[in-house]
Amino acid sequence: MRRSSTALPDVVLLCVAAVVLAAARIMGGQQPTGEPFTTAITRLKDGLFVIPGYDGAATGGNVAVRVTSEGIIIVDSKIPQLYDDIVAKVKSVSPQPIRYVLNTHQHGDHTGSNARFLPHADILMHRNARANMIAERLAGPGRIVYNDQQSVFLGNAEVQMRHLGRGHTNGDSVVYFPDLKTIHTGDLVVWGKRSQGTALTPFMDYTAGHGSGKEWVGTLDKILALDFDTAIPGHGPILTREQVRQFRDRMQAMNDRVAAHIKGGGTKGDLERRVKLDDLGWPTAPVGLDGLFDELSAAAR
Ligand SMILES: [Zn+2]
Repeated sequence: MRRSSTALPDVVLLCVAAVVLAAARIMGGQQPTGEPFTTAITRLKDGLFVIPGYDGAATGGNVAVRVTSEGIIIVDSKIPQLYDDIVAKVKSVSPQPIRYVLNTHQHGDHTGSNARFLPHADILMHRNARANMIAERLAGPGRIVYNDQQSVFLGNAEVQMRHLGRGHTNGDSVVYFPDLKTIHTGDLVVWGKRSQGTALTPFMDYTAGHGSGKEWVGTLDKILALDFDTAIPGHGPILTREQVRQFRDRMQAMNDRVAAHIKGGGTKGDLERRVKLDDLGWPTAPVGLDGLFDELSAAAR
């Protein structure tokens, strides 16, 4: 984790930590172990801040905050309980209004505060993400959608949304800040641990999200074709391009191992017992591994 370069008093950071711990307790999670966790708004580059998120429940996903002279664009909106927290943290770095909310996908830990933003901000997402929100009856679906690529121009900034293929869901957006060589990947990349202490593993949403563990690697290849040096994952610490490449290679290794399991006559029932991913940093099987089994079995036929 990077610490904010704008010096915040220690007491503020302590309060933030206390809120996170209280929230984790309320959500039934354990206290963070081992790693430094802060949810203080952190300056990443000129005009770009991050409100960190490490899990689905207590802290939600990472929120990117792009500050311009004509207003603010944020990426993702965490969970409903953190709306006021997001607004207060943005206000602590800029008096500009939040004018656009860009969602990386439909899940509630990335769109949870949408309904509160909708009366005074435009919400943008991929067409499939909107359809998924409506199918799941999630509050605050975006009013503006796109198919392949769109941009928001505000102040001196351009912020691009790109749909580069299926992966975590069928409506994932990679948000690209070209002038800052930075991307927000949504949950196409996750890294490190949840604030509850468990390892973050890729989630292949085969049900509500129509995701694809098989196509995910190709989508990551397209991400790596973008010109960036810094990546904000869906959850976890700020990453380098090299770490995104490492994540891509782990997804490939997972695909290769499940494919080898199928080729060797392995069944879905013994998948989790026989396909080990501990060395990839995923000690518990990623959610959706059985879906990947089905997908690769169908492809092998
Ligand atoms: Zn998600």
